[in-house]
Amino acid sequence: MPFFKIMKAVELKNVSFKYGSGENLAVIKNLSLSVEKGEFLCVLGENGSGKSTLAKLINGLLLPDSGEVEVFGSNTKDKKSVYEVRKKVGMVFQNPDNQMVATIVEDDVAFGPENVGVSSEEIGERIDFALKAVGMEKFRFVAGQKLSGGQKQRVAIAGALALKPEVLILDESTAMLDPMGRKEVMQVAEKLNDEGMTLITITHYMKEAVKADRVVVLHEGEIVVSGTPEQVFSRPEDLKKYGLDVPRATYIAEKLKKSGVPIKSGILTEEELGEELCKLFQNR
Ligand code: ADP
Repeated sequence: MPFFKIMKAVELKNVSFKYGSGENLAVIKNLSLSVEKGEFLCVLGENGSGKSTLAKLINGLLLPDSGEVEVFGSNTKDKKSVYEVRKKVGMVFQNPDNQMVATIVEDDVAFGPENVGVSSEEIGERIDFALKAVGMEKFRFVAGQKLSGGQKQRVAIAGALALKPEVLILDESTAMLDPMGRKEVMQVAEKLNDEGMTLITITHYMKEAVKADRVVVLHEGEIVVSGTPEQVFSRPEDLKKYGLDVPRATYIAEKLKKSGVPIKSGILTEEELGEELCKLFQNR
């Protein structure tokens, strides 16, 4: 998280939500959460815990039954600001194939800004900026179906960025990708966050939470665990209760540390653990 003045990007106050009006159970239950400007928040939780619903409540696609959702101070219930809120919160979903609306990459990225009436001159600039941000500028005139899954998701992120959002939500955006594609997308997301963008990722891949500033675990529509990755992953029993596991690299590093192997402390990515092990063997 880069240095910035503390400011609330997203604030949910006692939010409850259920689908339909009948006897259905609440999917989000009296949930309160605030995300600072520039923060990287990772939302974990097993299937059906309410993660996607939470994302849709944040960008005003769904409105709370009770409680308030504010994005940079604008309430999603306020009809005058719902359009503003949608512009401020960019979302990228799971399936890269469902998200491409045009055949050629640049037309796809231009789709959002065109729809909100951005001038054609500015659209050109936004395509430049957005494709550069995700490292896809060389693919500007390429047909979407020629891209790998990871590249398609980077184009989907570019499409969201072309609307100049303040907050980017990646809702299981790496779930359908191979490990390489997942890494590409996470690297782009982390770079954007380093540059100051507020980032919310929703995932069931534990290792994607390692770099977050804060992790929250959702269970049956409630936040049941919250803390830095280090705090959250040091309580594997808690995670197991909610159908989650610690990242494999964290698990291995902990086991090694407990048996006396001098591995650096903190939560390690797989790459960092690899480097630590190499150093140990080289120093033998
Ligand atoms: P997650 O993203 O954690 O998998 P969701 O927010 O998609 O969870 O779903 C939470 C709960 O809400 C689930 O029980 C799911 O079946 C239900 N649900 C999700 N979308 C709808 C919908 N459009 N209509 C009715 N129920 C839904």
